[in-house]
Amino acid sequence: MLGPVILAASRSDRMRRLISAAPVTKQVVDRFIPGESVDDIVPIIRDLTARGLELTMDVVGEDITTPAQAEAARDAYLRLIDRLEDMELGERVEMSVKLSMFGQALDGGHDMALANVRPVVEAAAAIGTTVTLDAEDHTTLDSMFAIHEELRRDFPQTGCVIQAYLFRTEADARRLAAAGSRVRLVKGAYKEPAEVAYQQKHEIDKAYVRILRILMEGEGYPMVGSHDPRLISIAQELAHRAGRKPDEYEFQMLYGIRGDEHLRLAAQGHRMRVYTAYGTDWYGYFMRRLAEKPANLRFFVRSMLSKG
Ligand SMILES: Cc1cc2nc3c(=O)[nH]c(=O)nc-3n(C[C@H](O)[C@H](O)[C@H](O)COP(=O)(O)OP(=O)(O)OC[C@H]3O[C@@H](n4cnc5c(N)ncnc54)[C@H](O)[C@@H]3O)c2cc1C
Repeated sequence: MLGPVILAASRSDRMRRLISAAPVTKQVVDRFIPGESVDDIVPIIRDLTARGLELTMDVVGEDITTPAQAEAARDAYLRLIDRLEDMELGERVEMSVKLSMFGQALDGGHDMALANVRPVVEAAAAIGTTVTLDAEDHTTLDSMFAIHEELRRDFPQTGCVIQAYLFRTEADARRLAAAGSRVRLVKGAYKEPAEVAYQQKHEIDKAYVRILRILMEGEGYPMVGSHDPRLISIAQELAHRAGRKPDEYEFQMLYGIRGDEHLRLAAQGHRMRVYTAYGTDWYGYFMRRLAEKPANLRFFVRSMLSKG
């Protein structure tokens, strides 16, 4: 019950100011967003890749209001890609981007987001890696899929995310499960109305399995984005039944969540990619992590009270 309330609060400016200024917040935030700058994140990239993990990097900051901020977002990714090139880690580390951060919600936003994301996709390709377009709320998805299709003309390895909680997603999965495509399946992290999305956990989990089967039986490259132990073993079973080898699909989890499981799956020979977010504008990302697990909120509130 708490999840939707937290997600609603995540849209409030007042709440943003309150949480961002709370004295203990930073230390709780660090669990999920372990750095503010490229310099902070480089040692973490080195450490995780040295442990046999692959990464997908997210520069946080979806709530932009001006074209200049969208360009700054593009430049932040380009700086990161430069550093990855210096570290010769291009093949192990890809980028995840939210098109909202590239201007999608502004006037003329579709074209602006495409124009801003294209140089990032080009720079990623130049160092041997790729970009995955994250899925945001359902009103943004037609634009996201159109941008994905456009980018794939020149960069077919560009990935995208689909969300099991949306009714539309089975059809999207069928369309996307084609040769050469890379698709991350997640449950979905936004507050969506009952007209477009399943609301109950068991319905979402069942949809996840149906969609995962479509991806595993298709010709693309499935990326299983979940920490749910049941879904992870179902994914292994579906991959096995579809005759996929360990390098023909991958698992993805978020930094700070079930870290031991990241290492366990990698040690078993699976491709395991850790979604690692960094940056200063962490509010939206952090609130979604609180909404996913009420215990996180309790921990957060307790640390505020004990400081206060
Ligand atoms: C790599 C990756 C990329 C993602 N990209 C997107 C995206 O583009 N768009 C989008 O809408 N959503 C995205 N998500 C979030 C996703 O939609 C879910 O909200 C999130 O993954 C939680 O669902 P779950 O599958 O882990 O299952 P759940 O049933 O929520 O969780 C299973 C178990 O995982 C652990 N867990 C899960 N979340 C947390 C948490 N926040 N804190 C502590 N423990 C936790 C708990 O032990 C829990 O019991 C992404 C998730 C991953 C892993």
